[in-house]
Amino acid sequence: MQHIIDRFISYVTVDTESDPNSETTPSTAKQWVLANQLVEELKKIGMQDVTIDDKSYIMATLPSNVDHDVPTIGFVSHFDTTPDFTGANVKPQIIPNYDGKDIVLNAEQNIILSPSYFKDLLQYKGQTLITTDGTTLLGADDKAGITEIVTAMEFLINNPEIKHGKIRVGFTPDEEIGRGAHHFDVNKFGADWAYTMDGSQVGELEYENFNAAGAKITFKGKSVHPGYAKGKMINSMLIANDFITALPSDETPETTKGYEGFYHVHHLTGSIEETVVELIIRDHNKIKFEKRKEKVEKIVRKINKKFAKQFGEDVAIAEINDQYYNMKEKVVPVKYIVDIAEKAMKELDIKPLIKPIRGGTDGCQLSYMGLPCPNIFAGGHNFHGKYEYVPVESMQKAVNVIVKIAELTAMPDYGLVVPKKKK
Ligand SMILES: [Zn+2]
Repeated sequence: MQHIIDRFISYVTVDTESDPNSETTPSTAKQWVLANQLVEELKKIGMQDVTIDDKSYIMATLPSNVDHDVPTIGFVSHFDTTPDFTGANVKPQIIPNYDGKDIVLNAEQNIILSPSYFKDLLQYKGQTLITTDGTTLLGADDKAGITEIVTAMEFLINNPEIKHGKIRVGFTPDEEIGRGAHHFDVNKFGADWAYTMDGSQVGELEYENFNAAGAKITFKGKSVHPGYAKGKMINSMLIANDFITALPSDETPETTKGYEGFYHVHHLTGSIEETVVELIIRDHNKIKFEKRKEKVEKIVRKINKKFAKQFGEDVAIAEINDQYYNMKEKVVPVKYIVDIAEKAMKELDIKPLIKPIRGGTDGCQLSYMGLPCPNIFAGGHNFHGKYEYVPVESMQKAVNVIVKIAELTAMPDYGLVVPKKKK
């Protein structure tokens, strides 16, 4: 366990915050520091073909130790942390044998991590937690994933009696700004499928995510002196308001869960002459997703019709762009890759929690790039803020899952019971 703690701390104490406003890859030069450190470490534990490209994407190989053909599998995680909260000067605190009570993260600023608010904490009574000091995020997202992958590879190298096929490891920059998969060379990676180690609590296993689009609607107006405006002024803000109220009020992020999709207006700027509304559209179901986009277009058309005579041209212009798609479409045809992960968990007495992601992952982009890639828990909680924490036991469980998946993949039929075909 100490080994995992030391490794994890050696990662989180390096600031790797990514930056959505940067156009370079990696988006911040500081990500190179940890990237280079990881390359050295992968070589040191005995990984082969350790490469880092000019965009800081890291790949490495653990060669097969069996004679028969086994598919090549991959494990992927990201080394950047979110720009939502500072990741500089992380001072991790270790809470051994957690007693189930409030944890004072920062006495001076009275910052408390409390199980009365964060109920998940109570599952970890008696375990060793790693928390922040209340002034930064922790970076368990996703340095827990990297810790687990490196530790599992090291374990397999040191225990050659465990039989496995070829394993590829991939570490990416800039996942938190949605670009982790952008420059991932799927061909060079050369795996038949992979898993991102980037989920939260123990047991999480995800292969469904949203279909996603972003929409920008620009409303035009005509400014006229308010005293002489009757029949002349067109106030684009009021038209934008009509648009927003025409969206179903019970289909927003705050009113939906599970498989329920939504429209989410997340940005608005306006004056009489021009108002811009930005929203995102999300749905797991492809048909419903298309219908949601059509609905936005239909509302815009209706508004344009209403103002056609007065304005003379379209008063509203909609730009809708797809962002990513549900990986389910790419994973279901090879569903056994989920079954292998599920079986690995069951064999380790971990209850699989299979649920749809209400967002996207690097794995969904990779799946559409030809590398089917479900997501597995990395163990952390309360990502992207000062209350982030990770139980060391959860990281150990993720290590065990990786090792077990490697083992199952080298077995006949991946260790899965294949139902006999009816005659
Ligand atoms: Zn992550």
